[in-house]
Amino acid sequence: MSKEIIFLNPVFTHNIWGGTRLKDDFHYPVEGDDIGECWGVSAHPNGDDTIAAGTYKGMKLSELWDKHPELFGNTGLDRFPLLIKIIDAKADLSIQVHPNDAYAKEHENGSLGKTECWYIVDCKEDSALVVGHNAKTREELKDMVENGRWNDFIREIPVKKGDFIQIDPGTVHAIKGGIMILETQQNSDITYRVYDYDRLSNGVPRELHIKQSLEVITVPAKSVENSILHTQAKPDEVQRLISCNYYSVYRIDVADKLSFKQDHPFLIMSVLDGEGTLNGTSLKKGDHLILPNDYGTVELSGSMQIIASSL
Ligand code: ZN
Repeated sequence: MSKEIIFLNPVFTHNIWGGTRLKDDFHYPVEGDDIGECWGVSAHPNGDDTIAAGTYKGMKLSELWDKHPELFGNTGLDRFPLLIKIIDAKADLSIQVHPNDAYAKEHENGSLGKTECWYIVDCKEDSALVVGHNAKTREELKDMVENGRWNDFIREIPVKKGDFIQIDPGTVHAIKGGIMILETQQNSDITYRVYDYDRLSNGVPRELHIKQSLEVITVPAKSVENSILHTQAKPDEVQRLISCNYYSVYRIDVADKLSFKQDHPFLIMSVLDGEGTLNGTSLKKGDHLILPNDYGTVELSGSMQIIASSL
């Protein structure tokens, strides 16, 4: 008898750059034409998911983490370490950068820094993301940012569906309009805004964080080739996209069936397309779940695309 799958009810956010695809394409029960983010697996105080069914139904994920550490492999960590979002960017997001753990601890009340990565769920043709920048030295960086030389500074890279991008702390980045992304990240919300295209929100520009940005931006930026991975479907295989200090991320394309052992402290899954079953339990597009510690053998069948992650 295998352990229970922990299904989650996501939290949604309204954003000036958000759209309607989380409602229209993913059929989430959310109203409005400015839905930017679905926090599919989150125990963050700004959007703490609720357990959707089973023994722990109605409990917050943060509470489950605190009360039942054994479900997550008794990691000893003081908070649920990851945050999984699906992002619908109808318009461009501001250009930003995140600090590393050491900087955040010192300057942001002991918060964690943020490493994140993006899997392109869908995008228009000729889409691009801002990843990195063109300054070659810190002096050049300062000059470009302080004097608003944004055309010189901003580095855009072309992307298509299935591309995967790791955003290390210190990497300048922005999601551009027309792109849907699954984001896997450290459980943190510390963001420094470098540039917001001089837009106004309710008549005023949003706050920028120039001092902190100049302190944390990595110079020079990682090369374009080293910043992006073009992934392909590998039917009925677990394909690892990255392993870093904070997470490993996997792409699983179920074409018929596959099985593997859940040998991580816990394993997160988000279904991005299709439907099928996991050990006989139905899964469909938009589901977010956690397989607890020592879950045993996982048997997937059907036709589905899944992004999974673990510590
Ligand atoms: Zn970010």
